[in-house]
Amino acid sequence: MVANTSRLAHHCAIVTGASSGIGLAIAEGLAAAGCAVAVNYHSHAEAAQELVDRIIDQGGRAIAIQADVSKEADVIRLFDEAAKAFKRVDVLVSNSGIQKDAAIADMSLDDWNAVIDLNLTGQFLCAREAVRRFRGQPMNGRPARSAGVIITMSSVHESIPWAGHINYASAKGGVHMFTRTLAQEVAADGIRVNAIAPGAIRTPINKDAWESDEELSKLLRLIPYGRIGEPEDVAKAAVWLASDEADYITGTTLYVDGGMSLYPEFRNNG
Ligand code: NAD
Repeated sequence: MVANTSRLAHHCAIVTGASSGIGLAIAEGLAAAGCAVAVNYHSHAEAAQELVDRIIDQGGRAIAIQADVSKEADVIRLFDEAAKAFKRVDVLVSNSGIQKDAAIADMSLDDWNAVIDLNLTGQFLCAREAVRRFRGQPMNGRPARSAGVIITMSSVHESIPWAGHINYASAKGGVHMFTRTLAQEVAADGIRVNAIAPGAIRTPINKDAWESDEELSKLLRLIPYGRIGEPEDVAKAAVWLASDEADYITGTTLYVDGGMSLYPEFRNNG
């Protein structure tokens, strides 16, 4: 890794939920592009520290910070600790998310609230803190064009309805409008805000859908491109969105889904 000549060498990022899956791959991708990374984790301290050690071994900069991003005080502390370690915060990748699936008649209020609290309110708490920091910190001769970048982790279910997952789909639908509204509100501050909407990516959150050959072949029927996504597919998109190469892009959702949102059932004349 040649950190100081890389495209994000002057940036510091917070990636939430980075001890596994998509968040882990994004943290690695940002670090490989020269970015200092605060690896947020909720409960897997060991996995987060392993990632930090790996990044540092490869010449990068990283620290692990525990925080429950559905809790206001935790989020403020997360930003304080990241800013203390790296002097500034330039990129937020608000990736943490959970599923607690049930048909509506069987869904408890606790399971509804848990998903909304993390997947939607967590986006609000992290983005609010990011905007406050981005506005408050000088550019210090930093060559980047934007004053800060926020990437929210949405899902194809920000637009595809998903029976049996009404809490999750409602939260991701909320993330869609949250991202667009925030982008409109802070564009004049030089802050860019975009969402990534992954399709089916091979991570712990959806293990049941790819672990057995039978489930995987059912899943592949929904993916025109013919393969499940890997966390690195999403990481590459996030690194690009964080960089000045995406400088004129704000308020949009980048689908990383192998065509899952293209109504695959209509491939054969509907
Ligand atoms: P994952 O389960 O590996 O990642 C979720 C992460 O969120 C974990 O690291 C977990 O520790 C963290 N987390 C859980 N509760 C938290 C809390 N209270 N505070 C902070 N962090 C917390 O699964 P993933 O697939 O990598 O999911 C990452 C994001 O991508 C989620 O927002 C998910 O909705 C979204 N997504 C995933 C897919 C997919 O197919 N895997 C598709 C669309 C969207």
